[in-house]
Amino acid sequence: MTEKARRVFWVRLDCDWYSNPKFLRLKRDKKFRAAWIYFAALGWSGRHKKQGYIPDYAFEEIGATKRDIADLIAVGLWYEGEDDGYEINDWGDYQEATAAALERADRAAKAACRRWHKGERAGSCRFCGNSETS
Ligand SMILES: [Zn+2]
Repeated sequence: MTEKARRVFWVRLDCDWYSNPKFLRLKRDKKFRAAWIYFAALGWSGRHKKQGYIPDYAFEEIGATKRDIADLIAVGLWYEGEDDGYEINDWGDYQEATAAALERADRAAKAACRRWHKGERAGSCRFCGNSETS
């Protein structure tokens, strides 16, 4: 065969994603666009070897609007990252990640915690102890 094999890139998806409280909140609030963007970003970040980082130049390609981004942040699926980009929450728990990528995500998560979690903000956070609420 002369046809070149197409290389396929993969990310892992938790089989229970649909019952995750963050996705249930999106479903309850009919934020289906945001869910779509989450999965597009998961693929984009894996394909481009960004290990959970979504730079601003990816927003157009995956179709993310400011509203989608705000919705993903509100439920804790994304958080603000470096250089106007975002981080996919818990990437390193599910996907391959280098130590450098884990440190980058950790820095961004800590900064987001300092900025947004002042003891009253709901959402999951491994730094300030806010736990997931419905
Ligand atoms: Zn926090």
